[in-house]
Amino acid sequence: MIQIKEYKNQFMNILFASSEAHPLIKTGGLADVSGSLPPALRQLRQDCRLILPGYPVAIEKAGDLKVVAELEFPGYSGPARILEGLLPGTRVPLYLVDAPLYFNRAGDPYRASNGHDWQDNHQRFALFSLAIASLAMDQAGLDWKPDILHCNDWQTGLAPALIHDRHDRPVSIFTIHNLAYQGLFPLHAFHELSLPQHLWAPHYMEFHGHFSFIKGGLVFADHITTVSKTYAEEIRSQEYGYGLEGLLEYRKDNLSGILNGIDTRTWNPEKDKYLEANYSLDDLGGKQQNKLAIQRAMGLQENADIPLVSHIGRMVEQKGVDLILHAMRTLLERRSIQLAMLGSGEKHFEQHALQLQADYPGSVGVHIGYSEQLAHLIEAGADLFLMPSRFEPCGLNQMYSLRYGTPPVVRRTGGLADTIVDTTPETLAAGRANGFSFDLPHVDELIACTERALDCLTDKNCHDSLIYNGMSQDFSWERSAREYLDLYRQLM
Ligand code: ADP
Repeated sequence: MIQIKEYKNQFMNILFASSEAHPLIKTGGLADVSGSLPPALRQLRQDCRLILPGYPVAIEKAGDLKVVAELEFPGYSGPARILEGLLPGTRVPLYLVDAPLYFNRAGDPYRASNGHDWQDNHQRFALFSLAIASLAMDQAGLDWKPDILHCNDWQTGLAPALIHDRHDRPVSIFTIHNLAYQGLFPLHAFHELSLPQHLWAPHYMEFHGHFSFIKGGLVFADHITTVSKTYAEEIRSQEYGYGLEGLLEYRKDNLSGILNGIDTRTWNPEKDKYLEANYSLDDLGGKQQNKLAIQRAMGLQENADIPLVSHIGRMVEQKGVDLILHAMRTLLERRSIQLAMLGSGEKHFEQHALQLQADYPGSVGVHIGYSEQLAHLIEAGADLFLMPSRFEPCGLNQMYSLRYGTPPVVRRTGGLADTIVDTTPETLAAGRANGFSFDLPHVDELIACTERALDCLTDKNCHDSLIYNGMSQDFSWERSAREYLDLYRQLM
């Protein structure tokens, strides 16, 4: 009994490796997780530290940094300096791998301004993984040894492979945030990396004639997690597995799902600095002012009575942007409604969205680009939030929507299935309904589901229940961090 108690209170050293973290650099949900989970683990009194590539914008935003190590890796140009500081706004120690030849480039971490991947991404993220492995094995002279190495997505996938046969290595965990991104490179790239030859094998890191970074994590990590329980099951099927379903099925006893949290300080309608008016469950008055502000900002007719449907996200097939645009064209013909859309991505989706705006002036507002401010205002001001994703490992926007009293309309997949309870007479009566969901990624299903949601908006009892149920849910990082901590403890 005493032994168990001591074990449960044990502090752990955790090295959290990621290629992006809010507020230093962000292209998607991975940055939200990496910016939130390490501070939440520190709140739980664990010594969690974060390691990131030293992109110029990350170095600039990190502020005070000091050089704590200089690492040399054969085959790479110049030393990789380890800069130490703090993740802004937190007490999380931060290590930035400063290797200018590889990371000192403006803009996107993965792509050049022409939209093509950087030609040397394999070298860039192999170097990053080598640095992670050095810190993981306490070989960087920092006098700090992690018990847990927690890697995230393909950019860190090589690290578990590099340490798997080392004595006294930390327990390794690899989290899949999106299996669609695997870090696949041709054979010559593998040769350029001077890695142990045995890694080029189908049961290791070869994948149909390519070198797969993500397989490093999937094959060699002691445990694999993904960001929702449903996605952890889905990726073991052909439909969602991208050819890795066999491997994931094989590792199913070491594969589990932990739902992401959301940053409840940034995403808090009571204090959100981006809003026109703050509001809470006790006083929802401000929501309408935000709606009027959004209508003004996006060139929509200013009228609080017209239902405002919204979407924020990357304009890619995964998110079902095509389904939204087709469904909205039909719905705009049938009903007096409005659409506010924010995002950027594939050019044809952007053009299609702008065309819809041109066809329905005053009813459709489209903003192509990235805007935190507009994202917050839309979550607050809209009446419904559409998320008809073809797959969705976790999804954050549906949770923001719940917290902002904006019922989500989602496809039942991945994290959307795990967070949204469809509105039926039964779920309403049980006080569980918080949104609307449908099964197949078809336009007709999205239209029918959105119609149900629009009908609910006009039924005070239904609408109030959904707002109450959504706004009172707990999606804090503390809940997720406790689940990760339990897992770390089990693995040790
Ligand atoms: P994914 O990681 O697949 O892009 P998520 O829903 O998990 O999707 O997370 C997306 C994050 O990026 C959310 O925080 C969302 O608000 C934000 N986001 C996406 N596109 C934009 C945009 N154009 N402007 C502002 N925020 C955006």
